[in-house]
Amino acid sequence: KEPQARKRLPVIPQGIERTRYFLAIDEISRDLGKENVEINDKPLEDGTWSVSGLFSPRNGSVVTNHPKPAPNTHDGMAIVDEEELVASAVIYPGSTEDVQKVVHWANKYLIPVHPISMGRNFGYGGAAPRVRGAVVLDLGRRMNKILDINPDDCTCLVEPGVSYYALYEEVQTRGYKNLWIDVPDLGGGSVLGNALDRGVGYTPYGDHWSTHSGLEVVTPTGEIVRTGMGALPGNNTWQVFPYGYGPFLDGIFSQSNYGIVTKMGLGLMPNPGGHDSFLYTFKKEEDLEQLVEIVRPLRIAMILENAANIRHALQILALSGKPRSTFYDGGGPFPTEKMHEYLRQHPYGECTWLYYGTCYGPKEVRRLKLDIINREFMKVPGARRINPAQLPSTDYFWSRDRISSGEPDLEELSWVNWWPNGGHVAFSPVAPTRGADALRLWQMAKEHWAKFGLDFFFDFVVGLRELHLIVECVYDRNNPMQRADALSAMRSLIQEAAEKGYGEYRTHLLLSDQVAGTYSWNDNALMKLNEKLKDCLDPNGILAPGRSGVWPARYRGRGWEI
Ligand code: FAD
Repeated sequence: KEPQARKRLPVIPQGIERTRYFLAIDEISRDLGKENVEINDKPLEDGTWSVSGLFSPRNGSVVTNHPKPAPNTHDGMAIVDEEELVASAVIYPGSTEDVQKVVHWANKYLIPVHPISMGRNFGYGGAAPRVRGAVVLDLGRRMNKILDINPDDCTCLVEPGVSYYALYEEVQTRGYKNLWIDVPDLGGGSVLGNALDRGVGYTPYGDHWSTHSGLEVVTPTGEIVRTGMGALPGNNTWQVFPYGYGPFLDGIFSQSNYGIVTKMGLGLMPNPGGHDSFLYTFKKEEDLEQLVEIVRPLRIAMILENAANIRHALQILALSGKPRSTFYDGGGPFPTEKMHEYLRQHPYGECTWLYYGTCYGPKEVRRLKLDIINREFMKVPGARRINPAQLPSTDYFWSRDRISSGEPDLEELSWVNWWPNGGHVAFSPVAPTRGADALRLWQMAKEHWAKFGLDFFFDFVVGLRELHLIVECVYDRNNPMQRADALSAMRSLIQEAAEKGYGEYRTHLLLSDQVAGTYSWNDNALMKLNEKLKDCLDPNGILAPGRSGVWPARYRGRGWEI
């Protein structure tokens, strides 16, 4: 017999009287159905990132069958106490009209609502709302239809609950051999949610926001709007031409709190006719400078066709799936000698940097590009090309190969388990693709690595012209000291990077005020415009207050900004 689930007192959003809050919950439960509104009064459980019962399309085996999916009430990888950023209730709308009802309801009672698609935004706050006690609007649970896949135009139209796995499966089931999808490292998240947060994947279609065409949005006052060609009744061009006519508004709905997106169109990549993934290793830390200089022209000219991925070798140890303690049991930053010790016995050999890439197209075309890449990369003294044929099928290289050819995967999760009860938070500054900038960021992050004594995993990713340094800081969620240090390290990195002219492309919701504050040119002109828009579109300040550092008038300057 199941033990009786314990209850906790739900957290009511500040400024709302308790009885009135529960009256409001009763009202929306009557409107949407009791089963579609859940008060968050159960003990908080972190579950697992992945979706229960996902299976690998390649070999049909179950990747994970975890009974507890990622939570939609809080951050499953919380960096502060779970109760700090927690929902009071979760609502599951079944249609755009349901979303509209929730918005009208929230305006009537002045209840903050936080929309999520699937809530797997780990490293950035997961499903947690920025305002404690806000109601999470979990769009993905019931609004999960693939509304269209057009194999001629290579486009699709999806609802918030469509995961990369689901889209991939559907493309396969319909037998569209000419279509690829683009996936991020983890395929269990929402296609729409990831693109809205300007997430990235690893085929030439990796900049997800740039491939979208057309949104359906519920505004914070409850109007339903279609952007681009979607505004033209009877159109058949919504997914092929993003701009429509007049001001192009789509941008204001990404990384924002100006609307709830209920549909999104996206371009799909045509099957290129083959692909070859490759891997090079580079010996010394200083090689980073020369390598980045080599990568820039090749990437801009699209000889390197997918996002360049220059990883620090420590992550290879973590990607083995073994915890840190297997390699080293001491505290402080992981010793470099220990890393080299392990790598000497690994097929990659002793190295500091690894470049994972993929070439696309028919064989002859790939050969030409691979030859150029080889010639250029081998200019770095000590560079080595790893022969994929000699790598076991379990090697991480093959996960990169799957992801870079549009096949969803979950293997990337293994580095989060570097510590028991692993969690992570990311520092992601943008720089020009210059060797000197890469080295400067590397030095800065390395100093923090040593100072805070936490392990960082580094990935220099070249989108096209720009370089993103992604520093993943991993911590034990049960270790309050490590969590606090991780947060302090992030804050310090953001500040120092901004002083040197580098800004984040995306951040954790607890760091969003700080990051937004660094974009302060001309007396914070950008934030002033954002606030003007917010107050105009959301006069009652009900939609995701504080998202990306944008607070509505009702909250502004009242101690919410941190
Ligand atoms: P959600 O969490 O649903 O949405 C993201 C945010 O967008 C929400 O917090 C919300 O504020 C907003 N939002 C969502 N839906 C709506 C809506 N309908 N209307 C208005 N606002 C909305 N990310 C990458 O991009 N690339 C990677 O390669 C990558 N690798 C990762 C590797 C690991 C090991 C981990 C743990 C995470 C990684 N992530 C990566 C981060 C994250 O897991 C993914 O971006 C994930 O796809 C985001 O979750 P989601 O799609 O469920 O989006």
